[in-house]
Amino acid sequence: EDQAYIGPEAIVAKRRQYGYPCTANFYKEPPQIVGGKMHMLYGHDGKSYVDFFTGVSVVACGHCNEAITARTIEQLQKLQHTSTIYLTQPMVELAERLADGILPGNLKRTFFVNSGSEANEGALLVARLHTKRRHFLALEYGIHGRTFLTMNVTGIPMWRTDDFLDGDVTTFIPRPYDPDMDQEAAVRRSLDALASVLAEKGDTFAAMIVEPIQGNGGMIVPPDWYFRELKAMLEQHGILLIADEIQTGCGRTGRMFGIEHYGIVPDILTMAKALGNGVPIGAFSTTDEIAASLNRPSASTFGGNPVSSATALAVLDYIEQEGLVERSGRVGSRLIEGLKDLQNKYGVIADVRGKGLMAGAEIHGASDQESAAWTDMLLERMKEEGFIIGKNGVGRNVLAFQPAMVTPEKEIEAMLISLDSALAGLSQK
Ligand code: PMP
Repeated sequence: EDQAYIGPEAIVAKRRQYGYPCTANFYKEPPQIVGGKMHMLYGHDGKSYVDFFTGVSVVACGHCNEAITARTIEQLQKLQHTSTIYLTQPMVELAERLADGILPGNLKRTFFVNSGSEANEGALLVARLHTKRRHFLALEYGIHGRTFLTMNVTGIPMWRTDDFLDGDVTTFIPRPYDPDMDQEAAVRRSLDALASVLAEKGDTFAAMIVEPIQGNGGMIVPPDWYFRELKAMLEQHGILLIADEIQTGCGRTGRMFGIEHYGIVPDILTMAKALGNGVPIGAFSTTDEIAASLNRPSASTFGGNPVSSATALAVLDYIEQEGLVERSGRVGSRLIEGLKDLQNKYGVIADVRGKGLMAGAEIHGASDQESAAWTDMLLERMKEEGFIIGKNGVGRNVLAFQPAMVTPEKEIEAMLISLDSALAGLSQK
């Protein structure tokens, strides 16, 4: 009935021919997704999947969520776009909503853009203008974007094009995790390394950018005191802290923002992904004082457009009405507990970590190659069973679970049962 339908093989072929060769697939036979409904995705062949990846935490309120799309459509029909130079209501309403009760501390001003990279780029620029310093600190194996500056602060080799980066702009600090080290020692090593860099050249850094939980780096959750100590150290040298909440933001971890778990307020906070539930939007928020440093005319053509802003307002309403922040914490604890039970049962799971509905299970084989191969086998098997799971980690050996915040608990239990048999199958090899 759909004459335009070409099928997955043709899509793969056209991607090869007309896309840039760098685009990658997770699966040997990637499904063509033709529809979605809340926690579900539908394939071309009639197969349905529970989506445990949500486009890396994007569709957190569920696919084609009617309460949200109704308001997107309403705005699309009223006014799509003009220019931020003229006055439109949704953008200021969204900024006010974020300032009044959603953003932590004295983060009261928000600049809207269209993606995570752009949000971080803006945050880094404001930090430079405010401090009048050029350099940045970042954690090894963090990910912050695809633009020049954000790639410069990204610490995962596969997301960098090192040849053309400004090598001296970023100083990387070891992250507070190392699979081959005692955890407390890894955390200490990270803070000690930061201390010695600060002692040597603390007055050259504008900001340090961190993910409250490293996403692509493999779901790294530092102990509660880590970011508190780190923030205090930065403050002594007048260095701003940028919290990259592009994966952790909007409720997924059981708090509205991931950084709130650690009892600190960043100087600048960035968000994107889940804020639009699939409609492009990005934002960087800060204090009155820091915002004043962006003192030249600055506007983004599409940033804060009425359609994206109305959608984000609907997302925030939905999260509040459905109590999704609290629910993510509660349901996520059960997910993590279930994964830990599987870790006790199967030696291939070396570690389980996360907060709320942002969880990872690190797979260890006899070698790095085997770890990555087993992770892929589990992903394939889970896809066959009707579950789309993500993958991340430096060695591409961490199963990533970032389901929609509306996923029914029975689907989480069903996924754990399927994963149990997939792991049993693996152990028999
Ligand atoms: N920061 C983090 C933590 C991310 O996960 C990503 C995307 N994976 C980005 C920034 C970049 O966002 P975008 O792809 O929207 O530019």
